[in-house]
Formats: sequence, C-alpha cells, structure tokens
Amino acid sequence: MSLAANHASTRSSTHAPRVAIIGAGVAGLCTAIQLKKAGVGDFTIFEKSEGVGGTWRDNSYPGCACDVPSHLYSYSFGLNPEWTHKYSPQSEILNYLEHCSDKFGLRPHIKAKTAIASARFDSTSGTWKLKTDKGDDHEAEILVSGVGQLNRPQIPPLPGFSDFAGRTFHSARWDHSVDLTGKRVAVVGNGASAIQFIPQIAAKVGQLTIFQRSANWIVPRNDYAYPKWAREMFHEMPFVSRIYRTYLYWLLEKNFMAFMKDHWFGKLFEKAARQHLEAQVPDAALRAKLTPDYTIGCKRILIADDFYPVFSRPNVELVTEPPARVTAHGVETKDGKARDFDVIIFATGFETTTFLAPIDIRGLNGRALADAWAHGPEAYMGVTVPCFPNFFLLYGPNTNLGHNSIIFMIEAQVRYVLQCIKEMRGRDLAYLDVRPQALAAFSARVQAELKKTVWQAGCTSWYKTADGRVTNNWSGPTIKYWQMLRRPDFGAYDVQARV
Ligand code: NAP
Repeated sequence: MSLAANHASTRSSTHAPRVAIIGAGVAGLCTAIQLKKAGVGDFTIFEKSEGVGGTWRDNSYPGCACDVPSHLYSYSFGLNPEWTHKYSPQSEILNYLEHCSDKFGLRPHIKAKTAIASARFDSTSGTWKLKTDKGDDHEAEILVSGVGQLNRPQIPPLPGFSDFAGRTFHSARWDHSVDLTGKRVAVVGNGASAIQFIPQIAAKVGQLTIFQRSANWIVPRNDYAYPKWAREMFHEMPFVSRIYRTYLYWLLEKNFMAFMKDHWFGKLFEKAARQHLEAQVPDAALRAKLTPDYTIGCKRILIADDFYPVFSRPNVELVTEPPARVTAHGVETKDGKARDFDVIIFATGFETTTFLAPIDIRGLNGRALADAWAHGPEAYMGVTVPCFPNFFLLYGPNTNLGHNSIIFMIEAQVRYVLQCIKEMRGRDLAYLDVRPQALAAFSARVQAELKKTVWQAGCTSWYKTADGRVTNNWSGPTIKYWQMLRRPDFGAYDVQARV
C-alpha cells in the first residue's frame, strides 16, 4: 500500500498530537513518562484492570518475582535504591510502578477499568477512532500499544472442564479466595510461573500433583537480599547504582551467545543445568523424567533453587502422562488413570502469537490487523506495521528476549516513537506509514538470523507459531536492537502531509 500523497510540507507544527496508549504496564507507563518529559501532555492511558502495573498486577501468585535482576529490570530514568533482593518479588515491582506513576504525575491520564475494543484509522482526519468496551468514543492522532506479549492467559480446552466440581484458576489470575491448605491440588504446566509458585504451596497443600508435558532446563537462581548498607550506598551514591546496573546489563548481554545454535557457551549452560539437576534430584528415575529432550534455550531457561527439592516431599507427585479430560472430581490422563482433586491450577501460559487480539484494529482502507497478520505477526523494527499509520507497538513481534531485560528494549522503542512524533511535528505531517518493502526486508533479515538460533532447534514454545515461525523473539543481542532504533530511518516510511 503506498500513499497517494507521498510528499511532506516543510512547515513545522506547534500542534501537539493526542496520544492514546493501550495498557498501563511497564511499556505504557514508560511511554507516558517520556511523552510528559517531551512536553506532549495530551495523552490517555486506557487500562482494562483497576490500576497500573500490567503483568505485575495480573500475576499475584505466591512466589511471583522477576527472573531478571531488579537493578536492571527497572527504568534507566528511575533507578530504585530500595530493591530488597537481587530478584525482587512481584509486590515490590508493582510498588515501583505505582511509585513511578505518582512521581511522574500519570494518574490523571489513566482511564482504569476501560478496555479498548476497537481502533479504526480515519485517513481523512489522520486520527485513530477508538471505542472502549463501555461503548465510549475517543480520538487520537497517535496510537501506542503497550499490551505486550503475555497478557491473555491460555487454558487448554480439555473435555469435561465445565463438569469439574472443585475450583480452578489460571496462575496469572490467582484466586486468593481459594484456601489451598490441606487440599488435593493439581498443577497443569511447569513453566516459569509454575516453578515459582509450586515451592510456595507444596508444604501447605494435602497432595500436589504436577502434570508435566515437557521438562525444562533449570539453572541455579542464587538470589540474595541487599544488606542495609548496600541499599544506603545505592541511595547516597546513585552513580554506584548506575555502574552496578551497567555491570548487570553486560553480564546478561553476553548470555545471548548461549542462544546461538551449537555454541560452546550454550553447552556451558546445559552443563550447569545438568549439574543442578543431579545435585538436587538424587533419584535417577525422577531425574530422567525431569531431563529435557531438547537443546537448552529452545524454551525459556528457568532459574530456581527450590523447585527440584519439592519432589522429595511425600505429598508431591510428578505425572508425565498427558491429561485427557477433566471429570467432575478431577483429571483423567490418557492412560485412563483418574485422580481426584479439590483444585486445578492451570499454569499453562499465554496466547502469545496473536498479539493485540481481541482488539479490532483497522488501518488504511479498513484493513484489519488480524488479516495483515494472517500468516503470523510481524512489524518493522518490531514497532510499526504497513497500512497502520501512526500506530506503534511496544514489546511487539520479534522483540522478546531470553537473556536480558525487556525494559531495555521497551525504552529503545519508546525513544523511537518519540522521535517519530517529533518528526511528524517538525514536518507538519498527518501521519507516517511504514513501507511494506521496509518491513519485508527487516523481517527477512530477522528470520534469517533466527535460523541460527536455538529457538529453531526443534521444540515447541510460546515463541513461535504452530508452523514453526519465531514471531516473538528478537534475533540478536539487545545492543544491536538499540543501535537500530537509535535514529529512525524515515526513508522507510511513506508520509502524508497535513492538509
Ligand atoms: P509457559 O512458559 O508458556 O509455560 C506453560 C506450561 O504449561 C508449560 O510447561 C507447558 O508445557 C504447559 N502446557 C501448556 N499447554 C498445555 C497442555 N495443553 N497440556 C499440558 N501442559 C501444557 O507459561 P508461564 O510459565 O506462565 O511463563 C510464560 C512466560 O512468562 C515466561 O516464559 C516468561 O517470559 C514470563 N514469566 C516470567 C517470569 C519472571 O520471572 N520474569 C515469571 C513467570 C513468567 P510445554 O513446555 O510442553 O509447552
């Protein structure tokens, strides 16, 4: 799709665009803060839940924490000397995001309990026409998606689900009204979420059965609390925080090597994971069940010190036979064996390859984003999509990481968006629309690079579509992504002058 008027006025505009941001999570808040700093004050954040925090509000399961060190998993412009642990818990991360919302005066801009149902681009006025789930209308020149990749919990469609007489919930919507004490509990799934809450509930439940479809590679977590003197030092000497953050960044950044196919560094990780398993699981038969059958890194590498020891408890059972159906009283596996439960917890991850669904997004000529992405989602720089002018995705397709802080990526994307807005204002443009050729070239490069990574190494994961195309992960080191986004190439865009 190329625009009829691909010429731009050279007059500059004092007109500050209105910006609509979907989601008050890490990405949405980051955008809002940078807009404020840039003097673009007319923005609204639409948030479907009651408050800010995104994934850190949604996920409140016991033991929830970030597996990226907190001094790095935070905004570069919002260092926090108060982190209590290397891997601080969910409550602290949520507090941090709440604090940032207050500090930067974002609250008046947030429309909570308001989901965007549809967004339609009107090329005549150069505006996005939004409809909320309450039926309200809203208009903005710029639309930013901060919904990310992990916001729609996925529960497998097991037959008989509605017959179950006990309680069920998904790990990302933990039902705190359910008292697990002494109960017979099933956990389906054993990914990053499950391995955090299983050790927290194992001692209190009566019986815990873990349904494992695939084993995961797990390396030691080695968490520690920051002593008071260290927190005071971070407080008094912010440059120490900065140096420490930089150290953590490069410490993790080098780990990208582990995600290259057949790289010696990945083999070191695998050795560490095997040693961890051997040290923590003395029983050879159990160890065999817990040993993955795919290259390390193909699925997310997990970190935990307290997960394997759970299996030495007499009330914990590991089941590798797949669940076939749910009955009124529990779960029946494919071998016909039935187990009774009071509670079934689904730790089965998220719908990850249909970004932004179920929002009905329509660009030029009414083109639906769902149609544009019929063969899998893709975006130029992970941020813009042809035919969807002035629409920017944060933590969009091919920007997820296995080795470093996603906040680093988000900050690079937000900087990119701000530069696009500046360009539009500077040239008095109605809109920018990335050229299909630019996206095609970008995607071809990313997919070619991804072929050299372990994500293509023959496992199923939430990083890819059913036909094996990796739609979620960035293909290289984060520094390379940062460099690419540092100065937008506006030659990649068709532009429409304001009339
Ligand atoms: P996940 O990694 O996608 O794990 C889902 C689990 O459910 C897997 O064990 C999967 O098995 C299993 N599963 C899915 N469908 C199933 C079915 N039909 N039958 C049986 N088992 C099934 O989800 P998650 O644990 O919620 O984590 C998702 C992502 O969120 C992580 O990779 C990470 O990026 C993020 N996260 C981060 C943190 C953190 O510390 N920062 C914590 C939690 C989550 P298979 O492996 O066989 O598919």
